[in-house]
Amino acid sequence: MTTTYSPELQLFLTGRSLLQTEIPYPEELIQHHLEKGYITSSPGLTKQTCERCGNTAAHRFASFPCANCQKSCTYCRNCIMMGRVSTCTPLYTWIGPAPPFKIKGSPLVWEGSLSPGQQTASEKVKAAIQTKSEILIWAVCGAGKTEVLFEGINEALKQNLRICIATPRTDVVLELAPRLQKVFPSIQVAALYGGSEDRHIFSPLTISTTHQLFRFNKAFDVIIVDEVDAFPYSYDKTLQFATKKATKKSAATIYLTATPNEKWQAECKNGKRPYVTIPARFHRHPLPIPEFTWCGNWKKAFEKGKIPSPIEKWTQERLRQGKQALIFLPNIKLMKKTAPYFQKLHTGIDSVHAEDPDRKAKVEKMRKKETPILLTTTILERGVTFPNIDVAVIGAEDGIFTESALVQISGRVGRSAQHPNGTITFFHYGRTKAMNKAYSHITQMNKEANERGLIDA
Ligand SMILES: [Zn+2]
Ligand SMILES: [Zn+2]
Repeated sequence: MTTTYSPELQLFLTGRSLLQTEIPYPEELIQHHLEKGYITSSPGLTKQTCERCGNTAAHRFASFPCANCQKSCTYCRNCIMMGRVSTCTPLYTWIGPAPPFKIKGSPLVWEGSLSPGQQTASEKVKAAIQTKSEILIWAVCGAGKTEVLFEGINEALKQNLRICIATPRTDVVLELAPRLQKVFPSIQVAALYGGSEDRHIFSPLTISTTHQLFRFNKAFDVIIVDEVDAFPYSYDKTLQFATKKATKKSAATIYLTATPNEKWQAECKNGKRPYVTIPARFHRHPLPIPEFTWCGNWKKAFEKGKIPSPIEKWTQERLRQGKQALIFLPNIKLMKKTAPYFQKLHTGIDSVHAEDPDRKAKVEKMRKKETPILLTTTILERGVTFPNIDVAVIGAEDGIFTESALVQISGRVGRSAQHPNGTITFFHYGRTKAMNKAYSHITQMNKEANERGLIDA
């Protein structure tokens, strides 16, 4: 084997697994590297499995008359949005020498400090990276989980390891990338999401949506999976496959969430899953505890065109005090029906849902305090911070409000240090297990925080 290879192609293809159409270099160049053994090609589909996304569901495949192989060719519908993987389209991966890293010294530049709860978790992250093991960071909403990663990432960079932070949501990529770029100014942070410009960057630190991981192959020494319980990651097996595929065999894996699912919670309690909790927020105030308020048959009341009186009273009180609030509803249909009733109380009351084309503008208006009360579906259950709000859930017994959803919703209250308090009210027509679990989840975290001296009572 000669040592003549293209360093650009090396940077582009290392740790990736791509279709030829995704590689912006001439076919002859790829062919040359294939012959010299710097690149390998493997079939995109094998035995009804898509090698890019791991899809095995028969109904997620289809056939088409293929111009390339002149046959009826099978392709994967599951990852079609990233270009068609079919029986005759190989995936290319770099197998030549790894590109050199140029990291010198300690790249972390950060003046902030960690709370004692963050500090404990930060040390565990560092240890997991050093020993290439797995750990779950179970951090309450508002704990400040990003800062907990800084030391660990720094350690990994010093060891010339390649790190990826994967999250189900593009919003989170857009928020995290500049924050990390700021504290690691000497390296180039790559932000990957549908349509991003950073596809060509070979970076020691990549922030990516879980979807974009389909394009990687044994790339990362450290993988940090944010919001491991969030839709769609938790439901979509192929995203979990993508995360595994993108990671090296001996990688360190860090999971982050405020709300691990029931199985994971049980594994933590039985000592089967290594984890560390951050039970307190960075501002050292306890988490607001949900109040349960019975409001009778609210569906019937709304059908008659009335807001159930405990809910109306609650709303009027916020309007009178001039305190902003979020009101969560179980579905869009109900929200659309009830919005006019609320608007009779105040014309400025607005509503938002996932398919709302004005979603961003409405959230921004709420942030600017131009909207007194915002009705919402579970779309705002995570990821948003309004500094001084009260929150209500209407129909908290509805199946959509799982333990995790209710804990996340409760986590919207009291997030800022200036306004660490606020109320969270579950209006219901009968308690559910999920409601009780959410309640004990939150009180348990406060209890632990208190015992560990992490909150100022
Ligand atoms: Zn696929
Ligand atoms: Zn074909």
